Amino acid sequence: MITLGKTEEVHISIYHIGYDSEGESSLFILHTAAGNILYSLVIDCYEKNSKETDRILSEWHLEGRVNLIVWTHPHDDHSIGMDRIIEKYSNKSTKICTANVLTGGQKYSKECQKIVSYLHLLNKGKESIYRKKINSLCHFPEILDRIEFNGKNVIKKVEILCIAPFSYLGGMQGLNKKPNINQMGIACIVKVLLNSECVNFMFAGDMDHATIEALNNEAEEENIPRIYNYIKIPHHGSADAKNMIEFLSTSGEKKSEYATTSVFKDKKLPVMNVLQRYKKVAEEVACTSDVENEKYGTGIIHLDYNLNDLSVKKEYEGTATIIEDAEG
Ligand SMILES: [Zn+2]
Repeated sequence: MITLGKTEEVHISIYHIGYDSEGESSLFILHTAAGNILYSLVIDCYEKNSKETDRILSEWHLEGRVNLIVWTHPHDDHSIGMDRIIEKYSNKSTKICTANVLTGGQKYSKECQKIVSYLHLLNKGKESIYRKKINSLCHFPEILDRIEFNGKNVIKKVEILCIAPFSYLGGMQGLNKKPNINQMGIACIVKVLLNSECVNFMFAGDMDHATIEALNNEAEEENIPRIYNYIKIPHHGSADAKNMIEFLSTSGEKKSEYATTSVFKDKKLPVMNVLQRYKKVAEEVACTSDVENEKYGTGIIHLDYNLNDLSVKKEYEGTATIIEDAEG
């Protein structure tokens, strides 16, 4: 339980970091206007010539202080540097949530295998009070974390839900089939309850078609929103995950506010007409690279939500750019 003064301004900073050919990471930082950090969440990591996730976390002085780290799936573009992020930014109460990588004998890339081994070794031989809280393959829609706020401030509660392909994978295991890596990917939704409304954020990882279908089927029963203030578009705006658009579009007149994607250049992602379709369910869509003008590079989209008046400040660093309407 966190107690805040009535007039203390509360903000949420979101970063979507993308690199020139592939690789992404997202950050969610709940803080006061004075810069006190109330909660922090890291989703995935990548580093190449620069280490933007590390740079931003260290600018926020989050060494040993991050609350939740989510590694969505063991593909290099969501993973490089994840072990170093865990080492530098976690403490023993940090929750570390991964796809189902710690059980079973699946083989991953060299880099991802290294992170899996690192996670296996983290708690080895340690007494339970010194163990890190590693949670592999959470159930859908399990609550990963919940923070409640006391007092008369505008913010009441933050809830983080894990979207995991549990039932689907369960079925696959029954058939003795090995799931592909995107099918094991997890994602998370952050619901922030304010005095009179809820603001919602979705970090969709590389969520697979079948997981989105499960989300679609369970949404009403599990109280999963269909309108978001922010969506990290699944799977770099590929046509494979375009059923997310249908999931979002059934929400009536009101649209989601903002959706962003990173790139996977070799796979020709994002697909421009998929992004144009996202524009029908979100007010604004942006990408970490200027794909239309073929300017690929490190791009960071930074949003700062003021929860007191619900205003949002958007900053685009590097190659990050807004997707304009298609001509004609
Ligand atoms: Zn990816």
